Amino acid sequence: MDTGGLFARDVVKDFAGRSGTVRALEHVDLATRKGEFTALLGPSGCGKSTLLRIFAGLDSASSGQALVHGGDPEAARLGHQVGVAFQDAALLPWRSVRSNIALAQEVCGRKRDWAEVDDLIRLVGLAGFEKARPNQLSGGMRQRVSLARALAVRPEILMLDEPFGALDEVTRHRMNLELQRIWTERATTTLLVTHSISEAVFLADRVVLMAARPGRVVEIVDIDFPRPRTAELLQTPQFHAICDHLAKGLFAEHG
Ligand code: ADP
Repeated sequence: MDTGGLFARDVVKDFAGRSGTVRALEHVDLATRKGEFTALLGPSGCGKSTLLRIFAGLDSASSGQALVHGGDPEAARLGHQVGVAFQDAALLPWRSVRSNIALAQEVCGRKRDWAEVDDLIRLVGLAGFEKARPNQLSGGMRQRVSLARALAVRPEILMLDEPFGALDEVTRHRMNLELQRIWTERATTTLLVTHSISEAVFLADRVVLMAARPGRVVEIVDIDFPRPRTAELLQTPQFHAICDHLAKGLFAEHG
């Protein structure tokens, strides 16, 4: 199989803590294709963010190997191939929405393209808030700015850590549809960290189910519903069957 998407072999991550070493990831193996959408699903503390940070080139494995598009994750990050959006959006407080997004274009060495910035703002549903500063926005709106900023890099690889965690259900669903559309258009290799079973199944080609203490992969489930996926899919018995299966896996770990 083509492993030119995300590849991990025997990845272990230990953190040194006050009361000894915490094993955040234990022997993680994963191989996805270029352009595939992968969701990491699991309870808090199972190592989802740690694995995402390793693939994003923001942290390194204690042992084992992680590759993105066949190369070193840090090199991909330094080469501006990776767009990252985190839950706490980390926007520059003195800059407007528009200029926070434009900054991402500059940082990766492109010319400012205000038309593209405004397109991205519309895409994430923030038209009218171009001039607002981050502290004038709700948490959910800041997350959407963060997503627009990640997309402004025109990334080949998109890393999303709970990007919709603070959104209400209706907005979250709308953002899921938008994200699917963006992903379909650009064929970006995507890694999404989520707590939401239905979000993972709706969006992903593969759902990686993880468990905690130590963080590990329990099961990788292929999701082969045709695309574009629509709201009707959420009502089908097939969709519910996969969600039930994943829920059993999630709750089995918690008794
Ligand atoms: P998740 O994203 O699934 O909630 P994390 O990847 O954030 O899980 O964390 C996995 C484990 O690693 C947790 O036990 C967490 O406390 C620990 N951990 C994560 N980052 C650090 C760090 N920088 N220093 C020490 N321990 C950490």
